[in-house]
Amino acid sequence: MPGHGRTRTRWITSVAAAVTAAALLAGAHTAGAAPVPAATGSGPVATHEVEYFEGPTATPRHKKVPARPPARIAGHQAPTPAAATAVTAVQETGPVSGRLDLVVMGDGYTAEQQADFRADAQATLDAVFAIEPYASYRGLFNIWLVDTASAESGVSGDPTADVVRNTALSSYFFCDDTERLLCVDTSKVTAYANQAPASDVVFVLSNSAKYGGAGYSFATPPSGASYHGVATMSSDNAKSYLIGAHELGHSIGDLADEYQYAGYGTYPYPSSASANISVTAELDVRKWYRWLGEQDPTGSVVGTYEGGDYYETGVYRPTSTSLMRTLTSTEFNHVGRETMIKGFYTYADALTSTVPTGTRVGSTQPLSVRLAPLTGLAGLSLTWYVDGRQVTAAAGDLSVTPAELGATRSGQRVTATVTDTTASVRDPAVRAATANSLSWRVR
Ligand SMILES: [Zn+2]
Repeated sequence: MPGHGRTRTRWITSVAAAVTAAALLAGAHTAGAAPVPAATGSGPVATHEVEYFEGPTATPRHKKVPARPPARIAGHQAPTPAAATAVTAVQETGPVSGRLDLVVMGDGYTAEQQADFRADAQATLDAVFAIEPYASYRGLFNIWLVDTASAESGVSGDPTADVVRNTALSSYFFCDDTERLLCVDTSKVTAYANQAPASDVVFVLSNSAKYGGAGYSFATPPSGASYHGVATMSSDNAKSYLIGAHELGHSIGDLADEYQYAGYGTYPYPSSASANISVTAELDVRKWYRWLGEQDPTGSVVGTYEGGDYYETGVYRPTSTSLMRTLTSTEFNHVGRETMIKGFYTYADALTSTVPTGTRVGSTQPLSVRLAPLTGLAGLSLTWYVDGRQVTAAAGDLSVTPAELGATRSGQRVTATVTDTTASVRDPAVRAATANSLSWRVR
């Protein structure tokens, strides 16, 4: 998405690395730098770091896993996907340059099971997009289904570690000897994802009823890919969709994990780059001070709860529980919602137009704009300006001519600006990030 300022800080702290390389990281952890790359970015990637979930109620874990499956699994597979894979738009609400493009692909579905895949994908998407703020902001997403016909039905490692199946993406349980860790061949994911018009985030649904999944976050996309995150989920387990909902919190919102591990002790960093983590030294500022004392969607009251970002003391999270702390919670807290909304607008614009902004327009030429179909929490406000002066009578109009706005002289500038007035945003800087403007010059 050129032109949308996609320089982003990815929150992908490695627990293992955070412990073994704390000193190295201390500098990187301040000043908004990504603490640890999940993989080495460009070039051949030997390993990825993943987050995984040993059960719907277990504290998530992290691990480095091989980018390619072991030979006994990978040896089975076709090396590359078919060139002409079918891509279907579940929803296409706007141009890829102005939308967050979510790609959903299946694994372990045979050519005859593509209808099953579509039904499973729909069910997973419905569950994820029932969660706020995904629900209200679904209109900022394009969602693409990419067909992947596997030679065999089901995936490797289901039900037992010795089971090997020939599937399009080589997904497999018992990854790195961890039963619920569902890994995938990311080079194959990339090959399929690149067949969609765009891919910012990928969901892989593995055809299985066994609980499991994994979240891959990337500071920079893997070689040849454009996505920043991949979440794997088993397709027929009622709880696995929460893995995808949580992982989007990292890959779209840059949210930190709000859980901690026993024995990790005191937070070793002077500050945190994450919106939902604050350290003792920041307590007089408290990043989420605008929300303190509010009743929260998670059921608690926003405050400063000690423990988070894997450490036990000297570090605080906004609420007792949340989807970023445990998958037993199905809600983001207020801070998470606000940060997710900021993330949505980092990828997407609520205002688009088919009239090119780089060209001059006639004074009687209609300037038509579209607003993303947002609902619920969202509140889009459209205003028009001529040479920087607001034309209040035209507020909310989706099609105007420059002459109707009083712009008839050559060189005058007409601007449409949309801002999200949602009450789920309180930080003025985030509010500013929701705004988008399009301008044209009169011929
Ligand atoms: Zn996480």
